Amino acid sequence: MDMNFSPEDIAFREDVRAFLAEKLPDRLKDGARRTPGVFVEPDIGMEWHRILNERGWVAPHWPKEDGGTGWTPTQKFIFEKECALAGAPAISILGLRLVGPVICEFGTPEQKARFLPRLLSGEDYWCQGYSEPGSGSDLASLKTAARLDGDEYIINGSKIWTTHAHHANWIFALVRTDTTVKKQAGITFLLIPMDQEGVEVTPIHSMSGDHEVNQVFFSDARTSVENRIGEEGAGWAIAKFLLENERGGSCYAPRLLKSIDKLAELAETQPSGVNGAIAHDARFRDKLARVRLDAEALEFTELRILAELAKGRRPGPQTSLVKLLGSNIGQQIDALRLELLGPDALQLPLERPLYGNEAPEPVGSELAQTAMGKYLNNRAATIFGGSDEVQKNIIAKTVLGL
Ligand SMILES: Cc1cc2nc3c(=O)[nH]c(=O)nc-3n(C[C@H](O)[C@H](O)[C@H](O)COP(=O)(O)OP(=O)(O)OC[C@H]3O[C@@H](n4cnc5c(N)ncnc54)[C@H](O)[C@@H]3O)c2cc1C
Repeated sequence: MDMNFSPEDIAFREDVRAFLAEKLPDRLKDGARRTPGVFVEPDIGMEWHRILNERGWVAPHWPKEDGGTGWTPTQKFIFEKECALAGAPAISILGLRLVGPVICEFGTPEQKARFLPRLLSGEDYWCQGYSEPGSGSDLASLKTAARLDGDEYIINGSKIWTTHAHHANWIFALVRTDTTVKKQAGITFLLIPMDQEGVEVTPIHSMSGDHEVNQVFFSDARTSVENRIGEEGAGWAIAKFLLENERGGSCYAPRLLKSIDKLAELAETQPSGVNGAIAHDARFRDKLARVRLDAEALEFTELRILAELAKGRRPGPQTSLVKLLGSNIGQQIDALRLELLGPDALQLPLERPLYGNEAPEPVGSELAQTAMGKYLNNRAATIFGGSDEVQKNIIAKTVLGL
């Protein structure tokens, strides 16, 4: 594998840097930095989404003919890395990275024409209806039922942990359409409008007080049969295609390395209480060095996956490795940030947002204001998108062949 960027890639990187310098407003960088939640709020994320769309860069993971960029895997990596270095908001993956590629791959020409332009423009905001009370890791046991009535499905049941369902106007959902066959074979993939009487969204607040996830109830909710992706009963294969994108579609390392650099910078000024700045504390340096080595090793794994993709192969179960390592390294960084800030981090402001004109004044530094919220919210990173144990099972079976 050649780890050096070609002259074309370097020219592309310059192009991306120039774009970010010109088009990424400080307001959005500030919003992204000062969001303690896992996901940026739509006011920040969608503004950046629209700026990227104007440049034709909002959907790098789609085929070019459907509105993608046509970038090579290396160019996608460069783009993500430069966005991370510039402090750009990470836009919601739910539409562009999850349901978008599904529609590109499995949608009919009519479905593509109806949904893809609205995804690109940001007119539609999507949420993901996979998990249910009692069906998370064992997703195939899901019970939310859909029954065909004329040219509409009638849906009853409930989805849980639904990120940003309170902002969304569409949900993509796995539903059970047949209870008489093997459980995987009875699942169908439906697109359901949220704005209707039969859909109710109730908030779930996280440990930090943030409202990012919800429970969604369907009581005789309806969707047209035209909103079914693939055949009835073909939902499981589509679900797995989507999960592969969810777990491995992004590069974790650039953002992790940027956060580690920030910690190293801060350590130079934070007093250790014993011997000058904490940067000179051998134990802290050791922890920081270990997490940096892990993040750099992850970056090489991500580059290896990119090399596979460049040869036209699918990333496969290696995405579980990236998800497992990326989320764990992220949590180590959150814990180190608290350690570094010491008593300053013992605060959990409940006002939202913590950016913009109405934001409360930080007590101590801006970093201290959000550090505890980030730490608490990011505990979920080793659960959502498949928990650590589930990823380890996949790696054991399919990568290690155990
Ligand atoms: C912040 C957040 C956002 C989320 N967003 C969404 C969303 O937008 N849409 C959506 O559909 N879902 C979402 N989820 C749900 C998420 O995907 C599930 O929580 C996750 O898959 C785990 O399922 P569960 O909560 O039912 O836990 P369970 O599956 O009940 O697991 C409980 C524990 O048992 C362990 N376990 C389970 N099975 C095994 C096994 N076979 N071997 C070893 N250990 C096992 C798990 O690792 C875990 O520790 C979100 C979750 C969180 C926390």
